[in-house]
Amino acid sequence: MKNTDLQIIASLKQLLTEAKLNIAIVPHEHPDGDAIGSAIGLAEVLAGYGHKAQIITPTDYPDFLKWFSAKTEIVVTSKNKKLAQDILNQSDILFCVDFNEASRVGKMEKMVLEYHKPKILIDHHPYPTNFCDFTISETHYSSTAELIYDVVVKIGMKKYITPSAAEALYTGILTDTGSFNHNTSDPNTFKVVSELMKFGIDTQKIQSGVYHNFSASRMKFLGYCLSQKMVVFPELRTAMITITKKEQEEFNFKTGDTEGFVNFPLSIVDIVFSAIFIEKDDLVKASFRSKGNFPTNHFSRDHFNGGGHLNASGGETNLTLEETIEKFTQLLPVYKRQLLETII
Ligand code: 5GP
Ligand code: MN
Repeated sequence: MKNTDLQIIASLKQLLTEAKLNIAIVPHEHPDGDAIGSAIGLAEVLAGYGHKAQIITPTDYPDFLKWFSAKTEIVVTSKNKKLAQDILNQSDILFCVDFNEASRVGKMEKMVLEYHKPKILIDHHPYPTNFCDFTISETHYSSTAELIYDVVVKIGMKKYITPSAAEALYTGILTDTGSFNHNTSDPNTFKVVSELMKFGIDTQKIQSGVYHNFSASRMKFLGYCLSQKMVVFPELRTAMITITKKEQEEFNFKTGDTEGFVNFPLSIVDIVFSAIFIEKDDLVKASFRSKGNFPTNHFSRDHFNGGGHLNASGGETNLTLEETIEKFTQLLPVYKRQLLETII
């Protein structure tokens, strides 16, 4: 951990070992494998120590992440706001995991900002904002899950890692690295994975849970998007996929079904930038991926009210889908030089 002051670790250790606490853990909205895996892994360890740990997610998480062995209760705020607020009120401390600014919890933003007991951030996204009392932000980590493992070790709680905590943390690392494809230049990632393996996790089960767990309609939807909806701009080394609400209905869309679609165009030779725009009820959700040093997070921040990592980011816009496509295609030539100069 390069950025985290030892004092923060010492304070956290003290906070977590002085008394048995009620602890709330919040991941970002539309949680992905790292957000939910980090939350479950941390909750399991804290529960093993004797704390009461509960996870409150702003919105539901995809079915393909609903096979975890851990029995940790997960409350979905968009479905039961009162219960979520009650848990927050009764908790002594709050962990925020896998996000760098309060707006990333969507409609829970006010609940998180108004929380007046100790708030601890554990995250790996660049440009963390100062909304917590303790900030553990390590942007060179592959995933928040990898960072949570190191934090748990540093606060002396390694002995409370259960096989189901290890399974959840491994899942976070697996999904945020795209099965160890990206963000894996640091040996620490594999060191943590090898430590987690010692807890007897079933990597085949996890692989199947995450990647072999899709509906037939989702696979057909992917095929449709790639064959009918992908537009390639070879001269700009960019590809774009756009999805209307009607198309989502036609393919019986479920939460998480489009997860990962944006990665596919990057396997086309010489494509360095991929974008997907998905029409939602009241906005258009954007996801961006890149290879090399093309900064999708800056692009997203500057034009789509978003952010994230250099090579993987997201955002949103209140424009219509047509207007969004227009905006994106007009923006691309502005980035032509940067796109052409991107080294892969
Ligand atoms: P995804 O494209 O899979 O939704 O997200 C990729 C990355 O971008 C994740 O690290 C995620 O946290 C971040 N991200 C996604 N959407 C947003 C957004 O609307 N705002 C910000 N700041 N980050 C986002
Ligand atoms: Mn993450």
